[in-house]
Amino acid sequence: MLEFIDFIIKATIYSAVLAFLILLPNLVLNVLMGLNESRFKCMQCGNCCRLKIIHLTKEDVVRLEKAGYADFTEMKGGEVTFRRVNGRCLFNKDDNCSVYEHRARVCREFPFFTIYGIPYCRIMSYCPAQDELRKNLKWIP
Ligand code: SF4
Ligand code: SF4
Repeated sequence: MLEFIDFIIKATIYSAVLAFLILLPNLVLNVLMGLNESRFKCMQCGNCCRLKIIHLTKEDVVRLEKAGYADFTEMKGGEVTFRRVNGRCLFNKDDNCSVYEHRARVCREFPFFTIYGIPYCRIMSYCPAQDELRKNLKWIP
């Protein structure tokens, strides 16, 4: 019985190490792109307004309400998001943001975030600006 438990523990540890090693190249790329944020040039293609569900903070909602906007939210998976019209954020007009000054925090930050203080780029295949950033990455930004 003890041998079996020992085997399970070792198998779990080896699996975790293997999974980490498989994920490591992507994690390094995520962080390296995060460190190169200043080189990122949004192409304003509007894909994130169409393809991404935008989660809103309370501050986002208050800011937009103070600016005079109403009826712009809906619930998705228990979270407040921008209402979507024709498959895109209701504020997206001809691929331009009509509330740019008041847009949500995630709209300002995307695709860059921090995890435990570490800069991080969330890689999304629909973002052409990330393809350009990948070509111009510098180890020392
Ligand atoms: S608020 Fe503006 S930037 Fe954010 S999803 Fe809507 S249209 Fe896009
Ligand atoms: S998908 Fe990328 S390039 Fe397109 S608008 Fe969003 S951040 Fe900018």
